[in-house]
Amino acid sequence: MPVHSNLSVMAYGPGDLRMEKLPVPEPGLNEVQLQMNTVGICRSDVHYWQHGRLGSFYIKNPMVLGHEGAGTVTKLGPGVKHLQVGDRVAIEPAYPLNNDEFCKSGRYNLSPTMFCSATPPYHGQLSQYYVHNANYCFKLPDSVSSEEGAFIEPLSVAIHACRRARVKMGSKILICGAGPIGLLNLLVAKSMGAAQVVICDLSTGRLEKAKEVGADFTIKVEKDTPQDLAQKVEAVLGSKPYSTIECTGAEFCVQAGVYATQSGGTVLLVGHGPDLVSVPLLNAAIREVDIRGMFRYCNTYPVAIAMLASKKVDVKPLISHRFPLSRAIEAFEITAKQLGIKVMLQCDQA
Ligand code: NAD
Ligand code: ZN
Repeated sequence: MPVHSNLSVMAYGPGDLRMEKLPVPEPGLNEVQLQMNTVGICRSDVHYWQHGRLGSFYIKNPMVLGHEGAGTVTKLGPGVKHLQVGDRVAIEPAYPLNNDEFCKSGRYNLSPTMFCSATPPYHGQLSQYYVHNANYCFKLPDSVSSEEGAFIEPLSVAIHACRRARVKMGSKILICGAGPIGLLNLLVAKSMGAAQVVICDLSTGRLEKAKEVGADFTIKVEKDTPQDLAQKVEAVLGSKPYSTIECTGAEFCVQAGVYATQSGGTVLLVGHGPDLVSVPLLNAAIREVDIRGMFRYCNTYPVAIAMLASKKVDVKPLISHRFPLSRAIEAFEITAKQLGIKVMLQCDQA
C-alpha cells in the first residue's frame, strides 16, 4: 500500500524544533526502508535542538534527529540478502564509509569517514519511515521488544565502556553519573561479573533509580572536594575501585576518578566535558593509573542482542516516559529537564 505521510522531528537551528512531513525515502543499493517503531531521545539530540551544534558538528541544513532506533523492514533495496520485509531490526547508527586501516583492524568506530544518523549532514531516525544501510541493521529475535531494540545504541556505549575500562569478574567499580549512560554501565558491569559497583551523582532521584537497578552503593555528591569523594568511595567499598567509569563529563568527577582508582587501575572517560580539563596527572602517572578514552562503540550489536534475549541485562526499568511521535516536542522538553531517565518516542503511534 502506498505511504503518503512521513512525520519527522527536525532541528532547524538553536532552539528551533519542528514536526514536519517529509517524503518517504526509498532504499538504494544495500539499503532497507524501515517503518520506525521506537526511538529513544539522547542528550545529544537535545543538545542539537538547544544549541544547533554538538562539538564541531553544526546544523547547516534542517536535520531529522534521533539515533537510538528500532524499526520494521518495509522494503528491500537491491543487494539485500540477509533481511526480509517484516523483520524487526535494531539500527546501528554509525558506520564507516571506507574500508580503511581502522576498519580492517576491527576498530571501525575510529574511522575518519563515518556516516552517523543525526550527525550533520545526515538525517536521523525520528521519522515514521527511514532508510539505512542493511549491513548495520540487526534482526531482533521475538524475545527482544522494539523498545529494547531502541536501547541497544546506548547499551552499546556501555558495553564498549566496560570493555575499555577492563571490567572483570570480582572487580570493584566506581561509576560517576547516574544518567542513562551511567546506569547502563552499572547494568553491564554487573553482568560482566563486577562484584561491587558504587555510583555517584548530584541527583537523589537518579541515585534511587541506581539502587533500584542494582547499585551496591550510591553517593550523593554535595560540597565535596575530589579527594573527599575518593575517600568516600574507598570507605564504602573497603578498598579503592579497580576501574572508574566517568559518565558526567564534569572536571570534578575526572579528578575524583583519578584519586579514587587503585594503583594499576583504569579511569575510563565516557562523559564529554570541556576541551581542556585539569587532571591530577602526576598522581595517575606514579601509580600507573591508565586514563583511557572511548568513542561510541564497535562490534557491540550482536552482543547486546544476546544479552537482552538471555535477560542478562534488563533495560526496561530505565524507561521513564513514552510518547507517540506526534508529541515529540513535549518529549524533548522532558528530556532536557532531566525529569526521567530514558524517554522513548513511539513512531508507529504517530
Ligand atoms: P546525562 O546528562 O543524562 O547524565 C549525566 C549525569 O551526571 C546526570 O545525572 C548529572 O546529575 C550527573 N552529574 C553532572 N555533574 C556531576 C558532578 N559534578 N558530580 C556527580 N554527578 C554529576 O547524560 P547521559 O546521557 O547519561 O550521558 C553521559 C555522558 O556520556 C555525556 O557527557 C555524554 O555526552 C557522554 N556520552 C559519551 C559517549 C562516547 O562515545 N564517549 C557516548 C554517549 C554519551
Ligand atoms: Zn546518543
